[in-house]
Amino acid sequence: MPSVLRVALPVPLPTLFDYLPPANGEAAIGCRVLVPFGRGKAVGVIVETDRPSQVGNARLKRVLRILDDAPLLDAELMQTLAWAADYWLGAPGEAYANALPLLLREDKPLPETREPVWQLTIAGRSALDAGSRRGGSRALLQALSAAPLPAAELDTLLTDWRVAARRLSEARLIERGEPMASSTSPSTLPAPPLHAEQQAAVGAVAEAFGKFQPFLLDGVTGSGKTEVYLALIERALAQGRQALLLVPEIGLAPQTVRRLRERLGVPVEVLHSNLAEGERARAWLRMRSGESKVVLGTRSAVFTPLPQAGLIIVDEEHDGAYKQQEGFRYHARDLALVRGRALNVPVLLGSATPSLESLANVEAGRYQALHLRSRPSAAKPPQVQIIDMRAQRLEHGLSPALLHAVGDTVARGEQVLVFRNRRGYAPVLLCHGCGWHAECPRCEHPMTLHAGWRRLVCHHCDHQSAVPTTCPVCGSNELKPQGQGTERLEEALTAQFPQTPVLRIDRETTRRRDAFEQLLDNLQADAPAILVGTQMLAKGHDLPNLTLVAIVGVDEGLLSVDFRASERLAQLVVQVAGRAGRARKPGRVLLQTHHPDHPLLRSLLSQGYAAAAKDLLGERNQTGLPPYGHQVLLRAEAHQRLAVDTFLGEARAALPETDTLQIAGPMPAPMPLRAGRQRGQLLIESTTRRHLHAVVRPWSLQLAQLPGARKVRWSLDVDPVDL
Ligand code: ADP
Ligand code: ZN
Ligand code: ZN
Repeated sequence: MPSVLRVALPVPLPTLFDYLPPANGEAAIGCRVLVPFGRGKAVGVIVETDRPSQVGNARLKRVLRILDDAPLLDAELMQTLAWAADYWLGAPGEAYANALPLLLREDKPLPETREPVWQLTIAGRSALDAGSRRGGSRALLQALSAAPLPAAELDTLLTDWRVAARRLSEARLIERGEPMASSTSPSTLPAPPLHAEQQAAVGAVAEAFGKFQPFLLDGVTGSGKTEVYLALIERALAQGRQALLLVPEIGLAPQTVRRLRERLGVPVEVLHSNLAEGERARAWLRMRSGESKVVLGTRSAVFTPLPQAGLIIVDEEHDGAYKQQEGFRYHARDLALVRGRALNVPVLLGSATPSLESLANVEAGRYQALHLRSRPSAAKPPQVQIIDMRAQRLEHGLSPALLHAVGDTVARGEQVLVFRNRRGYAPVLLCHGCGWHAECPRCEHPMTLHAGWRRLVCHHCDHQSAVPTTCPVCGSNELKPQGQGTERLEEALTAQFPQTPVLRIDRETTRRRDAFEQLLDNLQADAPAILVGTQMLAKGHDLPNLTLVAIVGVDEGLLSVDFRASERLAQLVVQVAGRAGRARKPGRVLLQTHHPDHPLLRSLLSQGYAAAAKDLLGERNQTGLPPYGHQVLLRAEAHQRLAVDTFLGEARAALPETDTLQIAGPMPAPMPLRAGRQRGQLLIESTTRRHLHAVVRPWSLQLAQLPGARKVRWSLDVDPVDL
């Protein structure tokens, strides 16, 4: 038997691939290779070397070329990725593909970690002065007249500058220049003196430097968690160590990056999906080389190499965005803990509303709890009051008491946030004549009316249609929007308060990059305003003059069948409420509901998140749901219901009978039809994770061979968060 290399290739298959070593070059684990694959070529990562092959010599192909002199992925990342693929039952190749920025998955030399710049030549400067060029060329010359600029910067300033650059460099008016040194801010802002609880938190984590220890930092918004992160990152830097800070959304990144840069005085790398590919690859490589010490990023930044790791922080650890919902379905928070263990560093999870999973880990003694109970900058914590909507005359869904409070607040010159987690004008368009409502033909769900666009839009599949003027069933022209989205609330509030600027913040108004920041920048700090928006408004950006938060339309969350809905609702209410009264002025929170006596709202409002979470954990424990039980979900979808049922039935039959597992299904998915596809699922549960994996791991390898597998799209989800 020949000895072979085992290579991970970016394909959704649960295997590694055997290749003969190349004629020359050192094949080391963690190096990338170019291999023949199918009819073409593919770039993969060497996972094992010197393996006896299971396949006969004749069928083996040879590696074409080794792309790296030294491993691109170090031993720790290789080990973590292997663990991750095994745990989340993912295709190993997809796990590796997630870990590498796109540019590094191509057969190209590694980009320079410093980006080359374009600069004017002497001839170029004279050409600019003489005004001899026009249009795009002139714009580029002008852009470069003050200082040399890297491509990424030019991308933000000019469109289509590359054509001009080619022309001008051929004419020797511009040239490539030496990369600039990474920008270091000359002056660093001093840190505020930490208060006692912050000091205790910093002390506890710093004590654990050099070993693996998870911490849960529980503190309301504004309690100073970020200051704790900053102090710890400073300490890691002082020891020459690297720090990774994960945030759930790009929207949170800009201001946090600014704060890190101003404070730390070292380059801070940023990694998220909105970045140009070159930038991403360079940031990744600078962390890998140790040239950079601090990286802030969203979910996939959890794969950043940390050869000198000192500390990993996961901010807003409860946030659902950390779970990848397609392809390789990992959870970045959980992976951060796995890396922390492998790297021997403390992992700090922070949240104002910790996940039930993390709270259970504290309870079980696996995580150490740290608390920030006070808000250094705020007058006092906001008071939350319930408005009983029953038997009230509503103005576009807003109760008189709520409108009154909004009026008082803006009259005082202060700002209001009206939170509604639904964009569009109205979630339903209903016929008063016959009861017909507009429904998405591909999902069989009501379509949302978007008045500004004059469209009906399905929020599940993006299907759009024109707004009918008459009912397609009875011909009546009494078509009425039912319910309120942010667009309608904006309209209603503008009509009620014509003197006050009303700003809507949702996915629609913030499509453009940085639009969110820009909208909020328009707010005058000391003038009255009304903000209407979705979840996006729950976090980010400090608004010192915001003193009233009105939460409307959360009742859907109270009635949902999803067992995580209560947890999510509690988190959302607390997060949104936390926006009020962050500065000197006291804040007030109103929650409008038809269910004022709901136990969740009662415990949340009278005793706070910790108490509500404790109740919810008690319920989960009694019913054996996560985090006390463990789940794997097999999803399948196809155009034909029969194909879905057949495949799931075969999958069910392939599971061994054992009393350590509970199996539910095959059954229709919570949305049985979506984007024209029939959907079904099989839920497998166990009280011990070990049992679950022991059965499901070998079973997962059989699924692709089931006769019905070819007729469906299927996927496995370990610890699913959306059932
Ligand atoms: P969180 O991350 O918990 O929302 P931050 O760390 O952003 O809280 O702190 C909220 C506000 O309080 C910020 O403006 C911050 O500068 C300020 N702050 C935090 N800690 C202190 C402190 N010890 N002394 C003075 N101001 C502080
Ligand atoms: Zn009708
Ligand atoms: Zn649809």
